[in-house]
Amino acid sequence: MGKKIVILGGGTGGLVVANRLRKALTKDNDIVLIDKEKNHLFNPSLLWFMVGWRKEEKIQKPLSLLQRKGIRFINTLVQKIDFENRTVFTSQGDVSFDYLVIALGASTFPEEIPGFLEDAYNLYDLSGTKKIRKAIENFDRGRIVILITSTPFKCPAAPYEAALILSKYFTMRRRDAEIEVVTPEPLPMPVAGTEVGNMVVSLLQSRRIRFTPQHQVVKIDPAKKEIVFQDEKTLFYDLLIGVPPHGLPPVLKDSPILGKSGWVKVNPKTLETDFENIYALGDVTSIPLPVGKPLPKAGVFAHFQADVVAQHIEAKIKGLSSKKEFDGRGYCFIELGDGRAGYASGNFYAEPKPVVNVKEPSVLWHWGKVLFEKWWLWKWF
Ligand SMILES: Cc1cc2nc3c(=O)[nH]c(=O)nc-3n(C[C@H](O)[C@H](O)[C@H](O)COP(=O)(O)OP(=O)(O)OC[C@H]3O[C@@H](n4cnc5c(N)ncnc54)[C@H](O)[C@@H]3O)c2cc1C
Repeated sequence: MGKKIVILGGGTGGLVVANRLRKALTKDNDIVLIDKEKNHLFNPSLLWFMVGWRKEEKIQKPLSLLQRKGIRFINTLVQKIDFENRTVFTSQGDVSFDYLVIALGASTFPEEIPGFLEDAYNLYDLSGTKKIRKAIENFDRGRIVILITSTPFKCPAAPYEAALILSKYFTMRRRDAEIEVVTPEPLPMPVAGTEVGNMVVSLLQSRRIRFTPQHQVVKIDPAKKEIVFQDEKTLFYDLLIGVPPHGLPPVLKDSPILGKSGWVKVNPKTLETDFENIYALGDVTSIPLPVGKPLPKAGVFAHFQADVVAQHIEAKIKGLSSKKEFDGRGYCFIELGDGRAGYASGNFYAEPKPVVNVKEPSVLWHWGKVLFEKWWLWKWF
């Protein structure tokens, strides 16, 4: 008799697991994907969308298209998971499972920073980037602050890419925008090491983008257009773009699969939780690295982890053993907005610290990212 595999989340990781398993398993195995959203959004494209270089319909696809392949899609909110009785509760009824894959990502909580919802544009969602797009059309001169409110946040490069893309957008229009990135981090992308961080800082400097590290916001004052930091210093802005605080999806609060970090604890190589046949991957997990920091939250890791999870579930169902392990490798394109991108790749599980190689910015990496975007929305739908 076939098995029932339930995948929670149709973002980067969930989409890959569902596709891989559908291809590998016979039709009597039921593959169910649950997401509260109707569409899968290719997040990296939000930065191009923000400046009008992409249309909304070109950066997302309806998850219902997966039904053509034999993946059952349920568009609903997951409300509770009973790990002992192997059942997921949703607003559309209960779903039992033999295998569960939790790919619910990191949730964002802009309301945790007073003033954020009133006056900051959210860089990390479609409606926020839509608002940025509109606001910059009429922005002639003044100060734009890109504010990272807390760590960890997904895609450690994204706010810096946003600054570089915006600087190009304004230079092309001969408008006088002063751009500054403010962050609690000591350097951009700190887990990747100082070489990568310094490369990003020098890219920012080459565009006269100010970089202000080690600044922790406590609130935003919309009336004064000021950001207030922990040390009571303030910073004025005309236009504020924010990366909101990230956290565990509320449905997993107090669940028995969490580790000390407050995120889901998994075996770093197989992505299995402490519950047999229940896996978690991507941004919802926290994997401690030898360097003493967690693996960054990024789509590239969710993707490669999904390959491993799918192989393990396939092997178990077929009564085989799988030797495939997640090895901590990943890569990242850093868009400059001028038709070039930088590229960094490395092994984050390396001891005593990640080994990351950086390539000089080039048109090649930019086109690599564009091709990847097209491939992604073609391959999985
Ligand atoms: C602007 C931006 C640019 C980025 N650029 C890059 C990049 O260039 N490279 C890179 O590697 N990464 C990038 N990322 C990060 C990348 O998108 C994420 O790390 C990745 O999507 C994580 O995958 P995931 O499967 O863990 O979670 P997600 O892709 O976040 O998917 C989680 C899914 O779960 C669903 N969900 C959550 N809670 C519930 C619930 N209770 N019920 C039902 N459904 C639920 C959500 O709707 C979502 O679809 C970027 C992110 C942003 C915001």
